[in-house]
Amino acid sequence: MKFLSPDQNIKCLLLYPEFSSFSFWNTREISRFTGAKATAAPLSLMTVAAIMPQWWEFKLLDLNAYAFDEAMWEWCDIVVMSGMLPQQKGMLDYIDKAREEGKYIVVGGPDPSSQPDVYAKANAVVTGEGEITLPIWLDSWRNGIMDGVFGSDEKPDLTQSPCPRYDLINMDDYYQVGVQYARGCPFNCEFCDIIELFGRKPRSKTPEQFLRELDCIYNLGHRGYVEIVDDNFIGNKRLVKRELLPALIAWNKARGFPFFFGTEASMNMADDDVLMQLMQEANFRFVFLGIETPDPETLLLTQKSQNTMKPVTQRVHKILSYGIIVTAGFIVGFDGEKPGNDRVMIDCIEDSAICMAMVGLLVALPNTQLSRRLQKEGRLLNFNGELVAEGESVFAAHVDKSKVEVVDQTIAGLNFIPTRDRAEILREYKNIVATIYSPKAYMDRVLRMVSQMPYQKPKLPHWKLIRKSLRGAYHVFTRMMAHSQLRWLFLRNVFLCLRLGSHRFELAMTLMAVFLHFDKQSKYLLTRLSHNDIQKRLNPEESSRRLEVGSVKSATSGL
Ligand code: SF4
Repeated sequence: MKFLSPDQNIKCLLLYPEFSSFSFWNTREISRFTGAKATAAPLSLMTVAAIMPQWWEFKLLDLNAYAFDEAMWEWCDIVVMSGMLPQQKGMLDYIDKAREEGKYIVVGGPDPSSQPDVYAKANAVVTGEGEITLPIWLDSWRNGIMDGVFGSDEKPDLTQSPCPRYDLINMDDYYQVGVQYARGCPFNCEFCDIIELFGRKPRSKTPEQFLRELDCIYNLGHRGYVEIVDDNFIGNKRLVKRELLPALIAWNKARGFPFFFGTEASMNMADDDVLMQLMQEANFRFVFLGIETPDPETLLLTQKSQNTMKPVTQRVHKILSYGIIVTAGFIVGFDGEKPGNDRVMIDCIEDSAICMAMVGLLVALPNTQLSRRLQKEGRLLNFNGELVAEGESVFAAHVDKSKVEVVDQTIAGLNFIPTRDRAEILREYKNIVATIYSPKAYMDRVLRMVSQMPYQKPKLPHWKLIRKSLRGAYHVFTRMMAHSQLRWLFLRNVFLCLRLGSHRFELAMTLMAVFLHFDKQSKYLLTRLSHNDIQKRLNPEESSRRLEVGSVKSATSGL
């Protein structure tokens, strides 16, 4: 392998590891109702393929859509993997396989960038943003050094970023296809790794460049859901309002609205009516908000003051009034959190009628202000639940793969000594999950949410979308009828939502379909939060340590 140069014709397998089926994000089973094989297309690897030499031969194997293919593995000269924390276990498994079989393997993406030590067994780890760092690795290879860690803190100009190689996937395999407009976020939340990876100065593509990417997926046959995968879609609100959204409205209108959009944004979007009006005109249907907690004091401690300006419910209702469904993240286990937090959080979710609420335990992610502070305070725990001393690397020691938690940001948290009793936090967390994902509570929220949405004149969708919707509706109906706790609630909602017009009915059907995933996911979480499991998660030395933590926290509470 080493005799090859990147200037030769290299056969490259782009391998995308599987997400746990219990992950909040992985609604694969529901996506399959519409004929898709997986929820979201692997944009990171398609972007990597566009940056690599174009004389290489690429094959992309997404293990969320297809089974592992030994023939593809045999075919390639090198394997390239990219992934996030929930994919870590899969990435480590394939690194082991590659090393055993003498196959060259290189990894990159958010998790290898945050903790390259974990991936030390890969031939090469490429950290940071690929537009800058992949060429560094390729140049080193040309100079005879292929192995090692290759990175840079430099941030690329996104206007020079090539269009991802969407041609490497089959569009019909995916429920949603991602496009990216910008990277970075101007805020400074203490627990966030995005600002560490992509910086606090948002960088954007040009509207023309963005529309060329939309043209590409349109020409490849995609119709329906397009996720704009920005860290914070309104990181540069002025550009989004003045340049991007007017261009997007014109593009979508001219083609009869083949796409509807979803994205992630900070809560201050609710304070800008012009922005939301434009988003509604462009056909945005979903937005994910990082609400984290309704408690303003806790938000201030975690440096998320932008969420304290107005009550959560007021902002969520405002966004709903523009026809955009709010999904949101909530976090349990922050420093300074008070007993009884479960009731406050449940009330917030119920009052705002957020159906898809991802509630998770706080994770001190590697390479964040939070994990650095906790390590300094002597509160950070490693994978084995042991304290990590100041200056010691959390992950440099061997990683016990059997202990790598794969259920993303839900249950794999509290990797630190919290400021209140761990058992109490876990019990409250369990109560939140059990309450908000009880069938009755969820189906009632669906009704409340769609009732708040404005009436929209029906648009005749593309035949592909009609086919997908009919297929999806058939499967949802069959599954709901087979579910004793859901059957009557589903029929009630169908009956009541039919009177709200086709647009709101379709949204209600989507929200109800997704509950089939959350029902399974929440049951799994509740099993993992059984009395025995909670006992196992307790650290006998923790209560004495917590007394010391109390004094440390009072010294840092002026953050
Ligand atoms: S608003 Fe979101 S993306 Fe921005 S710093 Fe906070 S958590 Fe990170």
